[in-house]
Amino acid sequence: MNPKTRRAIVLGLDGATWDVLLPRVERGEMPNLAALLQGGAWGGLRSTTPPFSAQAWVSLSTGKNQARHGVVDFWERSPGAPLSEHHTFVSSNLVRGETVWQTVGRHGRRVGVVNVPVTYPPAPVEGYLVSGFLTPPGRSDYVYPAMLEDEIEALVPGYKPDPFDPLGATQQQLVELADWMEKHEKVARQLMERHPADFFFSVVQAVDHLQHLFWNDISLSRGNSSSRSSLIDRCYTLADDILGHRLGLLDEQTVFFLVSDHGFGPARTWFHVNRFLLERGLLALGEVQGSGLGAALARLGLTPQRLRGLVRRLDVLGLRRRVGRLARVTAGRQIDGALARPIDWSRTQAVSGSPASEGIFVNLKGREPYGVVEPGQPYEALRDRLAAELLALRDPDADQPVVQAVYRREELYSGPFLDLLPDLVFDLGDGPYLASDAPMAAKVLEPLPPSLLQGRHRPTGVFAAAGAGIAVGRRIEGARIVDVTPTILYALDLPIPDDMDGRPLLEIFDDEYRASHPVRYAPAVGEKDLTDFGPPKGISAKPVRSTESTEEEEAEMERRLRGLGYIS
Ligand SMILES: [Zn+2]
Repeated sequence: MNPKTRRAIVLGLDGATWDVLLPRVERGEMPNLAALLQGGAWGGLRSTTPPFSAQAWVSLSTGKNQARHGVVDFWERSPGAPLSEHHTFVSSNLVRGETVWQTVGRHGRRVGVVNVPVTYPPAPVEGYLVSGFLTPPGRSDYVYPAMLEDEIEALVPGYKPDPFDPLGATQQQLVELADWMEKHEKVARQLMERHPADFFFSVVQAVDHLQHLFWNDISLSRGNSSSRSSLIDRCYTLADDILGHRLGLLDEQTVFFLVSDHGFGPARTWFHVNRFLLERGLLALGEVQGSGLGAALARLGLTPQRLRGLVRRLDVLGLRRRVGRLARVTAGRQIDGALARPIDWSRTQAVSGSPASEGIFVNLKGREPYGVVEPGQPYEALRDRLAAELLALRDPDADQPVVQAVYRREELYSGPFLDLLPDLVFDLGDGPYLASDAPMAAKVLEPLPPSLLQGRHRPTGVFAAAGAGIAVGRRIEGARIVDVTPTILYALDLPIPDDMDGRPLLEIFDDEYRASHPVRYAPAVGEKDLTDFGPPKGISAKPVRSTESTEEEEAEMERRLRGLGYIS
């Protein structure tokens, strides 16, 4: 490495929020974070709308909104398929345009990327990339170049890039999350030491899962010395240790960034969007299909959700070890299949997007396979009506509105993939509501069992920077997730591609750096150039693999996402 080259280290804590971190700093529990806040610039970071990890991390690492980079959800919508069907999980193959590590690599700088979500399958980089969250289970091709797999295996035998196994709010879950943080960090540090990079970006995923499952314990006031709370403390102490390690690497040429993809808060209530539409006559269901069993169960009032609830309680009782995991998922799917009342598209004007899209699709004629709503004025009138009714929806228990804001999709997004996004997007703000697309729910709002989930994403995550050229002790306001990539490129003194939605956060830099480093833009590199760029010299060429996953892999991925509330 050239000693004059500017370098950057980025640490992501998935789902980190100042609401949890600042009290811990004040209590002296996160000394490294305290040092970062004192010595750097920091503030909130506004996530994508809606604030979910798949689209948010891709926006963070491309500087683009969802309609421009193409990742709009955990799911890939297949063109022409009915709106309620989503099958394939997102992968790095969907991401359009350059990621920050590709831009940095294109300028001849070495990069290291570890555990960043939606990086599987690992595309060739000028350096190395270990994929993270949403790597299908059991895949061994999670690292580029492939030869690094042996090195990782030697450090952590049986290494898993995405090892989450949802066990509910149990002690064992906490032990596994902490263990997972340690193992991933061990690999990240070794790779950093053995393969020096000018740009290193790693993400700690476990913070998100910890907060989903244990929010109530996390937000409890101090003084609770249960073994559970000491395990939770251990996770945050580990996060602070990781931060301390990165800060220890700073020198006159290196800048450090701490980022999260969204914030966090309590989750207490399901918002069943399809039920909301059903009650307003906008969605219609046909008759129960198939065997006598499904019809019989339906007559007993057993909905898929209730049956899943039973299966979950069995999990909590520890029966999961006896019944195979996949057998349970398969049984759950068969129950769903037997009980599902198909959507009657001929009488349906609107349908819920997936939980992680927090939106409503209109069954538009000419666009959807069974469209009934005429384009033009009828479409706009339906969107107006939906927006008004969403805003009017109140939670009687909490005596507050459920939805904070509603947007037409073109108000939020722009780009070639606009059609993949819901026609209407609702913002649940900091409320305790979790969107669900379950068609069979009995009520629009239903309490969420705390044994299932205690936390949900909120729109504001964290941003902090320190090191060469960064102002000391500066609070910043209004930073957005799409600003991160242009800011990193500016900190590296590289030109910013001109196709980004974000801007460099110049306010975090000191006067001297800004005076000597004018912002430079350069034409964005097109798809073709990106493919032509190919693998860097000295590393054998290997194409990005297809991600066709097996039914078992899909079932396992689905089980994990359900354990985080991303699937209802
Ligand atoms: Zn996340």
